[in-house]
Amino acid sequence: MNFARWIWVLACTTGLAVGQVDRVPRTDVTPSRLELRIDPLADLYHWVRSLAVSDQPLPQRDGLPELVARVRESSRSLGHPLLWGALDAELEGCRTAGDLLKRFREGPEEQRAFGQVIPLRAIGVTIAEGLVPLEASFLADLWPERRAALLERKAQLDAGLIAHFDDCLQLVLESFGVVDPQETVPVYLVTQSPPPGGVTYYRRTGKGGVCFVDIEHNAGGQLVETVLHEALHALEAAGGSDGDGATADLRRRLLACELPPRDPRLRNLPHLLLFVQAGETVRRRLDPEHRHYGEVSGAYGRFGADATIVREEWIAFLDGKKTREDALAAIARRATER
Ligand SMILES: [Zn+2]
Repeated sequence: MNFARWIWVLACTTGLAVGQVDRVPRTDVTPSRLELRIDPLADLYHWVRSLAVSDQPLPQRDGLPELVARVRESSRSLGHPLLWGALDAELEGCRTAGDLLKRFREGPEEQRAFGQVIPLRAIGVTIAEGLVPLEASFLADLWPERRAALLERKAQLDAGLIAHFDDCLQLVLESFGVVDPQETVPVYLVTQSPPPGGVTYYRRTGKGGVCFVDIEHNAGGQLVETVLHEALHALEAAGGSDGDGATADLRRRLLACELPPRDPRLRNLPHLLLFVQAGETVRRRLDPEHRHYGEVSGAYGRFGADATIVREEWIAFLDGKKTREDALAAIARRATER
């Protein structure tokens, strides 16, 4: 992989200009290559995004029903949930809803993604305009409790995954056959977000990705694997999709088996490789009792035989029973001859 940048972002301790919480740090960040961020704007934004996909009654709050209606209308016009990435990724570097509004107003009118033209400015401005009047009451009423819960989970991650991240990353790099990415990955921990509760979006400008993981969908040890999984997506994004390494190698082998360009296996099998690698990395480096997220969430079941094939072959490689090349060749062969 061809990664280039190394960015250290230090903790931002700018105070809030709201009532009694003015001594609460605006953003909590641990300097690390895997940079966990706890940020009220990201939490407010994802709270509204998750309310928009919920069928529960909305909390009583001025302006909230109108904003949630705007988000739902925007979801209908976008068509696919992942297209929200063009908007969500703009949270990076914004401190307030006003910053986000300014970014959308001054940013590009449109963005192309997945063959679609996204009206970035029109949707972004309407959402951010709805967030601005909600922000002060969110910070005063809801944020202190939400921040405390996020800090508790962050402390667990700091003591486990973050403290041992270099070791975990080393195993991934050796397994995938890629060089050290020299890249910092931002992971925003939020209280709630739309399912499945973890997502990584490519940046509009520059390479790499930004990850959002919620603590609602990721209980206990699953949070560790989800954060690692999303970080691996971001590192892959930083290297480009046609770089070296196991996932790119597997895609090439699948194309060589003459799978049509839109065959879902071209996407699913490399993704399963990432699932298995993340689960095994947690199990081998952090917690021998860890059960894969794919197993606990039922994702492996939904992928059926493909998941079984990738697990069998990749774990045999990780156990030293076969080479990486033999494992990838076997995955491509077994998955395409069915
Ligand atoms: Zn994934």
